[in-house]
Amino acid sequence: MVQKSIDRPSEAAAMRRFADQDSARQMERGRHDLVTEHPHAIGGDISRESEPESVMGSSSVAQTATSSEPNANANAGQPDQKRAGSFVRKTFGAIGPTLVLLGFAAVFYFGHKNEWRVPKFASVIGTATPEVDDWCSDHSVPASICVECNTALMPLDEDFGWCSQHGVHNCVLDHLELAEVKTLPSQEQLQEDRRRADAALAMSVRKQNNSRCTLYQNRIQFASVESVQQAGVDIGLVQRDRIIEAVRGNGEIVYDPTRKATISARVAGSVWAVEKNIGDVVREGELLALIDATAVGKIKSELLHALAEESLQQKNVSRLQDARGAVAGSKIIEAEAALAKARADVLTSEQAIRNLGLPIDADLLREMNERQAMEELRLLGIPQTYRATIDELAASTNLLPVVAPMSGTVVSRSVSLGEVVDPSVRLFEIADTSQMWLKLSLPLETIDKLVVGQEIQFTPDGRERSIEGKLDWISTGADQHTRMIDVRAILDNQDGRLRDRTFGTGSVILRDATDAIVVPSDATHWEGCCNVAFVRDKEYFASPDSPKVFHVRSVRLGATYQGKTEVIAGLLPGEVIAVQGSDVLRAQLLKNGLGAGCCVEE
Ligand SMILES: [Zn+2]
Ligand SMILES: [Zn+2]
Ligand SMILES: [Zn+2]
Repeated sequence: MVQKSIDRPSEAAAMRRFADQDSARQMERGRHDLVTEHPHAIGGDISRESEPESVMGSSSVAQTATSSEPNANANAGQPDQKRAGSFVRKTFGAIGPTLVLLGFAAVFYFGHKNEWRVPKFASVIGTATPEVDDWCSDHSVPASICVECNTALMPLDEDFGWCSQHGVHNCVLDHLELAEVKTLPSQEQLQEDRRRADAALAMSVRKQNNSRCTLYQNRIQFASVESVQQAGVDIGLVQRDRIIEAVRGNGEIVYDPTRKATISARVAGSVWAVEKNIGDVVREGELLALIDATAVGKIKSELLHALAEESLQQKNVSRLQDARGAVAGSKIIEAEAALAKARADVLTSEQAIRNLGLPIDADLLREMNERQAMEELRLLGIPQTYRATIDELAASTNLLPVVAPMSGTVVSRSVSLGEVVDPSVRLFEIADTSQMWLKLSLPLETIDKLVVGQEIQFTPDGRERSIEGKLDWISTGADQHTRMIDVRAILDNQDGRLRDRTFGTGSVILRDATDAIVVPSDATHWEGCCNVAFVRDKEYFASPDSPKVFHVRSVRLGATYQGKTEVIAGLLPGEVIAVQGSDVLRAQLLKNGLGAGCCVEE
């Protein structure tokens, strides 16, 4: 078809004109494509100063392609289209060369502005897919700026290797010059940091890094600041903060059993009076209740009888001794035996009354007449202050006072008026709540860290404020079911705020470091044989061209407290580290570490 139309001269001429016009249009389209869709291609070409040839080349290709287009022939046969075509040709014929010229001008301007050097990769392409021939696939940055492939771009720091004292590689505590900070800490500060590291390492077994690990030798580079941001890498500062290292466990506040008394009646009887209630504060010896017990009256009267008998026998002996010459010796011996028996009966009764917890002094009673002695015995043991309130005439001799054996607070009362009680019934409980016991259960493996005297903090469930105490006792054995060890602290409770059987969470404070070196807890990563952090190079922002590099550090971690993790060694305050989005860094690290073999997941 094409071949046939060329045989006719007029049509062939028209076709050529159209071909010219088409080529112009095609060329224009080509330019347009180059400008809008492949901006990076222009950038790439500028550097080689081959832009003119490149553009010309593409236009000539376009022309050739158009000449062989069958549609060109079909259009040539239509006069209307011919006129329209001439208009288009005029328009585009003028624009095409102008654009070419503008292209030259732009190339020249760009080249001149950049002093005909390779423009910085990232500044031209941004984050678009880089060209294949300037790409280091090993390190995922343009080959021209890859610091790992061209170490001259960023010389390697001296490699000090493993620090056995602190358990990290290239230890910044020992080689300050390795720190990625502009301002180095003072020698005093460094000494303090070393002391703290020693204390932290001595106190407990810390997770070990593998001394043969080579991860720390890695430097992970980004093409630009923008690509760091696009990778979602967030940075943070290594800081100083307080770290409290503690052993935690569940616990319970209870009354101090050495300061607690359970009170019951010593004999059976009915409750005649109840004087104290739950919550009442009592002093030692204070009256709690009165029990009406017939046994008490019986014992009292036995004592009175024994005393009367003793008095009688005493008089009898005295009389016989006065008349020694007139009576048989055997009579005197009999009388003396009867007196001894009466004395023994007094002692027995006296003891029986003491056994009821009543204060009794038989000598005092001996000096009284019978009526006085009876009166004394009737209200025996009832405190003087209370006697006034008792109707003396109505009161029986059976009253047994129940008194507080210690000072404290009545914490339970299980008795009511008229109730019949016996020694098996618990009437009251009194506790000295000025100090309480805290019992904590701690994991067995923490036993080596515990020392009597360590501070304990306990936060009752549902309370904000914690209570402080001192570790007072450590169990010598583990609980056979829970495999936990029990420890105890004595808590001060002068203000009476603590309550018996309060559950909560307690911590034994092992270490309290106020100026520890800390990082956010998600800023470090266990990579199979080392804990690592990614430290931003200190020259990162020195100039737009300075390599955007993160150094890999092995770090020795201590305690975690309130979302922050202590770095015993490996980082210094002021260093900038990746805190979030370090997956990209880790992925690159994994790529670099392939074949190293030391970081196989355990
Ligand atoms: Zn490379
Ligand atoms: Zn060290
Ligand atoms: Zn390793």
